[in-house]
Amino acid sequence: MTLFADKTLLVASHNKGKIEEIAHLLEPYGIAVTSAAEHGLSEPEETETTFVGNARIKAHYAAKETGLPALADDSGLEVDALDGAPGVYTADWAETPTGRDFKMAMAKVHDALLAKGAATPWRARFCCTLVLALPDGTDHVFPGTMDGQLVWPMRGDQGHGYDPVFQPDGYDITFGEMDRWEKNKISHRADAFAKFKAACFPEGS
Ligand code: IMP
Repeated sequence: MTLFADKTLLVASHNKGKIEEIAHLLEPYGIAVTSAAEHGLSEPEETETTFVGNARIKAHYAAKETGLPALADDSGLEVDALDGAPGVYTADWAETPTGRDFKMAMAKVHDALLAKGAATPWRARFCCTLVLALPDGTDHVFPGTMDGQLVWPMRGDQGHGYDPVFQPDGYDITFGEMDRWEKNKISHRADAFAKFKAACFPEGS
């Protein structure tokens, strides 16, 4: 039994790297991946206040427009002492008039923690929620997390986004100092994808 019988999955993203990563992951199962861009889809506005809410908007929009099963994700960083901020606004915290500046965004998070007088360790987690929307209007949700703590100053130049200030539990290095393949094995995204794969392709299916 599989969650979708179709042999084509639409990845509801305009991020080329993300699409290639998912295509690679699904290749062994004979699933072909097509993208939002290939179908001329626009990017719907992410108006929800949760990861699952925004991933649902993207996945359902793509499934409805194309009649294909569609997979979308939404991710971000939650900091306990900031009541879960930046959360779904993680990318927004990096916005500047000339593009995204993650060094500035990391400094903003650090400043907010200092302003609050938050005690260390600064507990935080990266979240990635995947939603598979089917053309019949139903969906399946796969939440992934990686717990850890925020550190300061920034360490490492690997990865992207907030990686240099996030030290995952069980490690004494940040995501920014970690080998990319190592990070991809343990990340919030890996966690969500493991759940997605287990549901779609159970052993022996
Ligand atoms: P979105 O899922 O494309 O909306 O992006 C959420 C934002 O969360 C990204 O712009 C990154 O700043 C941040 N983010 C998500 N995953 C990671 C990660 O693995 N490392 C660092 N930053 C991340």
